[in-house]
Amino acid sequence: MTALIVAEHTNTHLNSLTLNAVTAALACSDEVHILVIGHQAGAVAEQAAQVVGVSKVLLADAPHLAEQLAENSAAQVLALAGNYTHILFAATASGKSIAPRVAAKLDVAQVSEITAVVAPDTFERPIYAGNAIATIKSLDPVKVLTVRSTNFAACANTGGSAGIDRVDCIADSGMSSFVSREVSKSDRPELAAAKIIVSGGRALGSADKFQATLLPLAEVLGAALGASRAAVDSGYAPNDLQVGQTGKIVAPDLYIACGISGAIQHLAGMKDSKVIVAINKDPDAPIFTIADYGLEADIFTAIPQLVEALQH
Ligand code: FAD
Repeated sequence: MTALIVAEHTNTHLNSLTLNAVTAALACSDEVHILVIGHQAGAVAEQAAQVVGVSKVLLADAPHLAEQLAENSAAQVLALAGNYTHILFAATASGKSIAPRVAAKLDVAQVSEITAVVAPDTFERPIYAGNAIATIKSLDPVKVLTVRSTNFAACANTGGSAGIDRVDCIADSGMSSFVSREVSKSDRPELAAAKIIVSGGRALGSADKFQATLLPLAEVLGAALGASRAAVDSGYAPNDLQVGQTGKIVAPDLYIACGISGAIQHLAGMKDSKVIVAINKDPDAPIFTIADYGLEADIFTAIPQLVEALQH
């Protein structure tokens, strides 16, 4: 059994979420290959070759693959799919866009957001916003999987010595073209990879207060900022900070929920955090039921006090 992982990358850097997918792939198969689809992405292939447990890196490098559009990427994966028993993607916006195209063309059922590998054909995945875990046995000849990164440890990114093979690139499908990309820039750590997250909810009241209240705490802790959907929908925080069922799934070492009630859809995105701290003025807020440490207090008083204490 051989697994193929489709790398997440920027054409210069391999995204660390690929390392979590390698761990999942090693639990499914004897051999693991990484496919790098991009342009001038040789550096990414070199990085992928260093990943422990990977035996081969395939590099599909062409100008029309530069933006890793789903249509071309899916076609590139399909051109190689015949050699593999498992095809894995990180469960990111990109992976979730390519994987269904691959599964449909292979006429197999995709297994989404696996959280554990029970056997090479059997996987666990959350359902009902994480309130139940389904164990799924796939009878398909090829398993197309997206991997929930927070449930698999990242494997080491140095020490491996895989060979790199350039593969024939598919022709441009012409079905989509790249127009532009707006990447939000932040000095804060990236949400999905952060070890500490300070997250704010509707209680913050405005975009200005969100920044003024939470940023000092995030800075003193070296944390990423996160937000509830209510905070995002109210315009207090940008969309890419949303944590939850319809936002990002995170599992940092420390998650500090500030003025967040703890709706089931929010918990679905952060309940696997190692230590959860909740600050809320309502003692009955559901967030307290999953918090390791709860502080019943007004955030506008408690957070400045916390920052002050941490600075000294
Ligand atoms: P509220 O529920 O309004 O809670 C605000 C909290 O702040 C309250 O507990 C209150 O006691 C406390 N508070 C108020 N003032 C203060 C103060 N001064 N000091 C301390 N505490 C204070 N939500 C997500 O977060 N992520 C998702 O991905 C997501 N996806 C969804 C998908 C679907 C299909 C649906 C239907 C909903 C989804 N939601 C999601 C929305 C979710 O149901 C909640 O509405 C949302 O999480 C509430 O956000 P909140 O906790 O910030 O706001």
